[in-house]
Amino acid sequence: MVPLPARLPVVPVTVFYLHGFASSPRSTKVGYFTGRLAEHHVEVHCPDFNLPDFQTLTMTMTATLRSTLSVAIVAGFMVQGSGFRVLGSSAEQARGVRPAPAAPRTPSPTPRTATQNPEPGARTPEPSTLNPEPISVRVGFQGANGKYSVVTLPMESYVARVLAGEAARDSQPAALEALAIAIRTFALANRERHRADGFDLCDQTHCQVVRAAVAATARATQATAGRVLLRNGTPASIYFSASCGGHTEIPSDVWPGHEDPAYLPAREDDACDGAPAWTADLRAADLLKALRAGGFHGQRLRDLRVAARNVSGRVSRLTLDGLKPDVISGADLRTVVGRTLGWQHIKSAAFTVRKQGDSFHFSGHGSGHGVGLCVIGSVRLAERGTNADQILARYYPGLEISKVTPTAAMLAARIAPAAPPSVRAAGTPRPPAPDVMISLPDDDEGEHDAILQQAVRARDEIARTLGVTAPVKLTLRFHPTTDDYEQATARPWFTSGAIVAGELHLLPPAALRDRGVLEQTIRHELVHVMTESALAGRPQWVREGAALYFADPAASPPAGSARPSCPDDNELARPVSAGALSNAYARARACFARQIQSGKAWRDVK
Ligand SMILES: [Zn+2]
Ligand SMILES: [Zn+2]
Repeated sequence: MVPLPARLPVVPVTVFYLHGFASSPRSTKVGYFTGRLAEHHVEVHCPDFNLPDFQTLTMTMTATLRSTLSVAIVAGFMVQGSGFRVLGSSAEQARGVRPAPAAPRTPSPTPRTATQNPEPGARTPEPSTLNPEPISVRVGFQGANGKYSVVTLPMESYVARVLAGEAARDSQPAALEALAIAIRTFALANRERHRADGFDLCDQTHCQVVRAAVAATARATQATAGRVLLRNGTPASIYFSASCGGHTEIPSDVWPGHEDPAYLPAREDDACDGAPAWTADLRAADLLKALRAGGFHGQRLRDLRVAARNVSGRVSRLTLDGLKPDVISGADLRTVVGRTLGWQHIKSAAFTVRKQGDSFHFSGHGSGHGVGLCVIGSVRLAERGTNADQILARYYPGLEISKVTPTAAMLAARIAPAAPPSVRAAGTPRPPAPDVMISLPDDDEGEHDAILQQAVRARDEIARTLGVTAPVKLTLRFHPTTDDYEQATARPWFTSGAIVAGELHLLPPAALRDRGVLEQTIRHELVHVMTESALAGRPQWVREGAALYFADPAASPPAGSARPSCPDDNELARPVSAGALSNAYARARACFARQIQSGKAWRDVK
């Protein structure tokens, strides 16, 4: 028995348990240590030495792996000043096959505790034969000030901790194991999500919620160690939500433009049985506040009506009487209300709504977007005796569940096709990253790929039209609310987009999309980026005129504008209202277009 110190160090401790020959991460002993240490908030990471399979495993390979692991541990943790400790099975046990101890209270033989140092000459195993190089996740923990502190966690520790943050209370092991596999898959498929912020995944609902692991989550993680859902050999892009409310949802009905793979169907789910049912009463004034923060404008919300529903029965479109734009999707309404008034009100897009005096009464069921695995449904299925693989097959039909941890090469295949061939530093384990980074707020993340493709297409096309080289690196930041946008850019909401420190800042995607200006706004800001240096020092109308013109060259000029006066710098830089700005924009575009149409090159407009 390893005596635990009375007082554990405050630095995070990660324990690597190296199981013996003929054992596995699912052994009783591993479970025992994991459980005991989890009580003390110490995470145990147990790599599966039976990989790639038992037949090809040799003791030499185990030994090589051990030295590699110790190097990896030192590299990953010592550098950061965190403690680490390795619990190894004894060499005697490793040579012979011993039955697992019957009583978990007295594991035998006593494993020794050893702090291993890196061996200078330690050889790295061939990646082709031993692919599980320990994958780590750089997690951004959001502090009270909104800033992130980055902590690197081994993948399995990360999974055990997210499981504590995302699972339903008192889940059966099978439900926890299914979710552990989904969490691991999500983490691998979304490792580029926060590249613009300097880490992989955040600890908030935006990515996956991270909490302290407990015995049950550590056990489920160990039991599924390294297992992920694969699509064509790479981690599948999957989702899960608290409850589908009785019917799962296809991605494109939540995030327009998202592909709808066969493994994410809209299907009836009798497991969750429509739970939870919910109601919410929201005052018209509060709803108006939320919608305005989301980029909609108007002084009064006179009525709110369901105009259409999609296949799953969720609200696909609502009309907003009195606002501009005057339509919003059910998913977007849930998002704008959640961000401003809290997520406890409109729990899902499966609802009915009616006006009652000065309020709107919502009645619905389910919680979350409803795409992919239904957490409440999986808990009920596990209680009925369904195992983890069956749960996953039900919610992600057709996906393969792998037994190996994907290699860096497998991960690279998932990176967006938009990336140009990029030069990798020798020995860099990370896959090449796309040169366009999209940062999206909570619940809009499903649109990532569609927006990325749109941005890359626009970038390349504008670069060709202008005859300039496309920028090597672009960052597009969509803000969750107009307030957030205004704070980051010091520009009023009706400007839609702005460039700050070389990055494109944009309004919430819902508002831009519902106004029909998402693509146009991206193009507008891209033109600014690509014409910035050539037009430096010119009047504002030249720069804005170029952006407006090349964002939409085919647009017809406003009628009756024979020879408009070009707006002065103040009209464009400090517009007093949305109306004043759109007037100044129209004149800037007309002035610019007139010179282009007279045969002038865009660089010479002045
Ligand atoms: Zn995130
Ligand atoms: Zn369900």
